[in-house]
Amino acid sequence: MIKHSENPLVFNTAIGTKKRNETVVPKEVLCPFCDVENLTGILKTSDHKIWLKNKFPTLKNSMMTVIIESDEHLGDISTYGVEENREVFSFAFECWDEMIQSGKYQSVLMFKNFGPRSGGTLRHPHLQVVGLEETDGYAQIAKENFEGVEIKKNGLTVTLSTRPIMGFVEFNVIISELENVEKLADNVHGITSYLMTDYMNGRCDSYNLFFHHFDDKYICKIVPRFITSPYFIGYKIPQVNGIEALEEIADEIRNRLDKKY
Ligand SMILES: [Zn+2]
Repeated sequence: MIKHSENPLVFNTAIGTKKRNETVVPKEVLCPFCDVENLTGILKTSDHKIWLKNKFPTLKNSMMTVIIESDEHLGDISTYGVEENREVFSFAFECWDEMIQSGKYQSVLMFKNFGPRSGGTLRHPHLQVVGLEETDGYAQIAKENFEGVEIKKNGLTVTLSTRPIMGFVEFNVIISELENVEKLADNVHGITSYLMTDYMNGRCDSYNLFFHHFDDKYICKIVPRFITSPYFIGYKIPQVNGIEALEEIADEIRNRLDKKY
């Protein structure tokens, strides 16, 4: 298959317009993910978790799907109980791996948007799983993007990036075997709940999770979101904290994870 590394993903303008028109309805009144009875294109379910086709597949040459994590409109990975959070991750990894194993896609991306600065449109907690037919989603990614200050190594690896993709702060939770998905879930839970409460004195309200199936590993990159730096938008230059500041954040996270899991 051809590597389309330098080509952008192509947006389907017609579906984009349909999406804009049909989502003008006030969100508080009608959340499509609360309205379970009228969901279509369902691929798989488990309790209140539902994997379905995206109603507005705005990207060409792709299979866009969504995983509804919970029937709680205001739920989130940072606030679920430990057990529920593990179930969300197990189900999501099952769906993601099914698409990877199908062999139909050059790459399958899974990610989550949370909060106003994350790029998300719907509050109801969900993940996106997108199969790209002609694009290598990892063409711009290097294994250095997941290396950095080591926070934890115990059946899985947790790092704070010294070579972030965008910057400043990027955490990586890395497992080699799918059977360790619950450990990964616990650590992502701990880090996101830290980001949404104590990090930057509570000034952070948004984050993304980016899942990578890369270099024979399964990786969850956690990125707290603020206004994007002009250095990155204009020049593709990522920024990173100095090593002292990184060590300080790593210590704080390490204490928190050690206490909890
Ligand atoms: Zn909802």
